[in-house]
Amino acid sequence: MEVLRKPAWLKSKKLGARKTREIIKILRKYNLHTVCESAKCPNQGECFENGTATFMILGETCTRNCSFCAIDKTKKNLEPVDKNEPKAIAKLSNELGLKYVVITTVTRDDLSDGGASQFIEVIKQIREICDPEVAIELLISDFGGDLDQVKRIINAGPDVLNHNIETVQRLYGVVRPMADFERSLKVLQTAKKTDGSILTKSGFMVGLGETKIEVLELLKKLRDVDVDIITIGQYMAPTQDHYTVAEYVHPDTFAHYKIEGVRMGFRLIESAPLVRSSYHAEQAKKILNK
Ligand code: SF4
Repeated sequence: MEVLRKPAWLKSKKLGARKTREIIKILRKYNLHTVCESAKCPNQGECFENGTATFMILGETCTRNCSFCAIDKTKKNLEPVDKNEPKAIAKLSNELGLKYVVITTVTRDDLSDGGASQFIEVIKQIREICDPEVAIELLISDFGGDLDQVKRIINAGPDVLNHNIETVQRLYGVVRPMADFERSLKVLQTAKKTDGSILTKSGFMVGLGETKIEVLELLKKLRDVDVDIITIGQYMAPTQDHYTVAEYVHPDTFAHYKIEGVRMGFRLIESAPLVRSSYHAEQAKKILNK
């Protein structure tokens, strides 16, 4: 497939280079990683400048093989669970004075609980060490469909539960072959059913070959399981070995999806070419009353 030229609207604002270096130095001091770095996120500088970062737990190697993702998938690199990680994240969040902490993970199908216990311990440590006003967003995997792990995490009391649906159902086979569309909807539904006071969130990319109708149908399906917050961003291939970009979607189309999303009842929707799961995540505080 022919490689498309990147349009002007995808040029990210080179913000916060000094802040980025500063934060990465502190992260290393705590032996912590961010998905911002691993996924080569275009908004790193801006987010770091705003004092937000997305911590990645359970190592930098994933047991899945999503064709759009830059994360390492070399099984022999899978790391043992780091028991010091939860306290380190809480201490660093406190040191940086973060008001909104996002925790994400690779998928760890090799762990009996998929890594749920580590998420629960991170929440516990942040609640013990940080300001009670701090809001916690978790971006979880599908735990291989083990919904009891989802319930355990919800009962630990995060403020926002995020699980990315990533793309439309028709493209799952080529984009997320080890995931399941209905299973991901079930994760979001279970979270909301377990505790209706928690905000649920999901996100997906466009530009992978989906149609506008499929995107509106996807938004409807996410509203049907009471998802509150949505992020929609442009897929950009990390390398030429990853899934090929099918289209650079025009900003007007993103605006259209936002209008339709608000009309469907989403409480917050970030839809623009450079939007990523945690981009402006702290905006959720507005509807959290925290
Ligand atoms: S599950 Fe997540 S981290 Fe793993 S390959 Fe897929 S997108 Fe990347």
